[in-house]
Formats: sequence, C-alpha cells, structure tokens
Amino acid sequence: MTDYSDNRYFKLFEKQKSHQFTIGNTSCKTRIKKLKSLKHALEVTYKDSIREALYTDFKKPYLETDLTEIYPVIDEINFVASNLKTWLAKQKVDTPIALLGSSSWIKNEPKGVCLIISPWNFPVNLTFGPLVSAIAAGNTVILKPSEMTPHTSKVMSDIVNDIFNDHEVALVEGEVEVSQELLKLPFNHIFFTGSPQVGKIVMKAASEHLTSVTLELGGKSPVIIDDTSNLDKAVKKIIFGKFLNAGQTCIAPDYVFINERIKTEFIQAFKTTLKTFYSENPSESDSFGRIVNQKHFKRLKSYLDDASTRNASIEFGGISDERDNYIEPTLIFDVSEDSELMQNEIFGPILPVKTYKAIDEIIDYINSKEKPLALYIFSKNKKRTTQIINNTRAGSTCINHNLLQFLNHNLPFGGSNNSGIGKSHGYFGFLEFSNQRSVLKQHTLGAVDLLMPPYNNFKQKIVDLTIKWF
Ligand code: NAD
Repeated sequence: MTDYSDNRYFKLFEKQKSHQFTIGNTSCKTRIKKLKSLKHALEVTYKDSIREALYTDFKKPYLETDLTEIYPVIDEINFVASNLKTWLAKQKVDTPIALLGSSSWIKNEPKGVCLIISPWNFPVNLTFGPLVSAIAAGNTVILKPSEMTPHTSKVMSDIVNDIFNDHEVALVEGEVEVSQELLKLPFNHIFFTGSPQVGKIVMKAASEHLTSVTLELGGKSPVIIDDTSNLDKAVKKIIFGKFLNAGQTCIAPDYVFINERIKTEFIQAFKTTLKTFYSENPSESDSFGRIVNQKHFKRLKSYLDDASTRNASIEFGGISDERDNYIEPTLIFDVSEDSELMQNEIFGPILPVKTYKAIDEIIDYINSKEKPLALYIFSKNKKRTTQIINNTRAGSTCINHNLLQFLNHNLPFGGSNNSGIGKSHGYFGFLEFSNQRSVLKQHTLGAVDLLMPPYNNFKQKIVDLTIKWF
C-alpha cells in the first residue's frame, strides 16, 4: 500500500473518503436542495462579487460574466433539478429468455471521491458546472481552480465554504504544484478541463490508480463558410463567437475557411461589423475584454510577430498594448502553415482566414489535423453540410452559428481524442460522475441452474438449443 501521509491533501482526501457513503446515500431532494443553495449564491448573494472578481482578473464585461459564467451553471442546476429523480431511479432492463426467473436493473451509483481541475477562461462556469453533475451523482469533491484568475478563485472559495462542509466539497487554491500534489492521490474520478498538454499529464497520473478521467480539452476549431451562406449573418455570429472573452474560449472559431469567391465581401462585412460591435477603437469598448496575463499576452504577440515575418497580411487590427494586456480584434490572411498561428490553438482575438476552391480540399485539411473540439459550418446547402459532417470528425458541430451547442444540456459536450475524452452537461455529465452498476436478481430456479456439473448429454442438448434459438 502506498503511504500518502506526506501529501498535504491526504487528510482532506481521507475525510471525504470516510464520508463518501453518507453523501452517496443522500436523497434526490437533499441533493437538489444543495444545488439550489449554490444557485442562490450565484444568482443573488455572490453575483456582484463574481462580476467584480472576473473584471479584476481580466476585464471580463459584466454581461459576458452573466451570460457565460453564471447563466450556464444556473441552467445546469435547473436541468438537474427537473431530471435527477429519473436519473437516480433504478432503470429496469429486459431479461433474455435464457435468464428467465431473474430480473435486472442498472443503479447509477456515485464514483466516490472526485477531483475537478479547472481552467481560467470561464472559471466559474467550468468549476461549478462539473460540480453540479458531481453533486447530483452523490460524490464528494475537491475543486482546484486555475491560479491565473486568483480573485475569482477567492470568491468561489467563499461560496464553497459558505454552502458546504469540507467533508463534502472543498476548494483548494494555489499554483500548479497544488494540482500536481492532488494528482498523486487515489481519487475515484478526475474531471479535468484545460489544454491537451496538461490533459496528458492528468491522464498519466490517473493511470497510477486506474482512476477514471473526463478530459475536456482544446485545440483548433475550424469554421467553414461556403458561397451559399448568408454572409452578413455568418460574419456577425463569428465575430461574436470569436471575440467573446477576447477569444479565450475553448470552442471559439480558431480559423476560418471561406470560399475564395466571397473573400472581398467577407472582409468588408467583417470590418463593418467589428466597428459596430466594438467601435472604431475596441480598447475603449466596454464590450471587449483583455488577455488574462502577461504570459498569454506575450504568447499571442509572438504569434502575430511570427505571422508578420512570414508575410501574412493583417486586414484588420494587429494593434496591442502590453500595459493593458490588450490585443485588438485581428483578421489575418495568407498565414503560412508552419506559422505559430496555424500550429497552435490560438486562444486569443486573432482570426486567420484561409480561402478554398473546392470543399474536398477543406475536408482533407481538417482530417490531416487533430480532431477539433468544434467544427462550424455556415451554409444553406444541406447536401454539402452533410458531406462535411460525414467525412470529418469533431467533438461537436454547430450549423449556421457557433458556441450555442454548449448551451443545450440535452447535448453531450466534449471532444474526441486530442480534444477530449468523456462528456459533460446534463445527463451525460451525471453519467460521467456515476458508475453504472449492474444488478441481477434471481427470483426462481433458472435455466442456468439446470446446467451445473456434472455435465451430460441432456445438458449439452439444452446448451445447443439455447445457442441455436435464444
Ligand atoms: P491548462 O491546461 O494550462 O491548465 C488547466 C488547469 O491545470 C489549471 O487549473 C492549472 O493549474 C492546472 N495545471 C497546469 N499545468 C499543470 C501541470 N503541469 N500539472 C497539473 N496541473 C496543471 O489550461 P488553461 O490555460 O487554464 O486553459 C486553456 C486550455 O483549456 C485551452 O487549451 C482550452 O481550449 C482548454 N479549455 C477546454 C475547455 C473544454 O470544455 N473542452 C474549456 C475551457 C478551456
């Protein structure tokens, strides 16, 4: 047995472990009551503190905080409250004839002690969203938010301390070393949201204990705009999706493919809409946020410099201000394939555009890369849309819009391979934090009971008939 007594978080882990059955056996009503306390904290008690903390951390506009941090968690809670009774009920399944005399069902039981590690870009949404699923499923949870948004982490810590006893839910603040220390412990499930690079570290650590993982990762999400789309509407939606949160959104359009015939109109529509949304000078607009910190500012600035040295052409934007971590919404063409912008997930307000002649070119291009977290299609051509969907792979697809797939709790949210493993939201999130325990109950003598040793010809015949007919 491994000795964890040196681990800073072992006592907390053990405390939660010793309460896992008390928490796991709480009723549906008790769990919903707890979730409603969280809802009240987000909607009323802590709403202003959350808005202020996120503004301090990276000037997130209040409306974006309400829409993308608070609303999705409240909506998740409402969805769980309406459905949890059904999800927790014993789910009867059919009995094959060979097992006559028995009945079977599935019991969704909690996994146990869970760890949720979250990123900084939507810290409230991506910490409390999975927490809702974990509580619904009856787990105890340790939360580790990102060190990059400390003011928001502090408010989340206050909320957790206000609502929960730490034997049920605890939040631990701190640097990367905190995650590393936590990852040494034998959790029953780890739910990680972050980059594919760190996702691999998490999966490796989890494999030590055969801990199950949900990995909500990132990557480059392409957008395809064909020549049948309503260009003005497509451009508006893409600008909203790309520059929300200053481009620091996992499912934001990373780059755009447009049919070469519509390049000029696209640029024109883009410039007009950008000015309408963020004024002539976006640095003065209350609707546009900032890059989270100097490290990420410098990363994005180096991507821009790299593209410029490789003869990319900036059609709009390109201005930056290091003192304010400001990068102007930027539209950029002729970006070479080996540039940083095309090699890495951008995660900032820079949008490279590539032109294409035939749809097959795009399909081949997308399939030569890692599977994206999202793939967006703007087209009125149903046949072409189906062709793209059937011949590519992605975590999700939104047709004639972007980001919205995240908000429908009836849809599983997640990536595929490099963009993620496992799903979140609604029933899918609940299942991720549950073990589907199979239960079979024998009521009367069954066929199998007649087949026990010693074997003979009669028993062999029954087996032969069973294979043939049942
Ligand atoms: P990150 O991977 O750097 O960090 C995520 C979390 O992991 C943080 O809490 C951090 O403290 C921790 N961490 C960092 N390095 C670690 C290490 N070596 N060992 C253990 N823990 C470590 O990601 P980020 O910069 O916070 O977020 C951006 C990334 O997250 C992007 O790739 C984005 O696409 C992705 N993302 C995905 C989703 C999704 O739902 N799929 C949502 C938001 C962000």
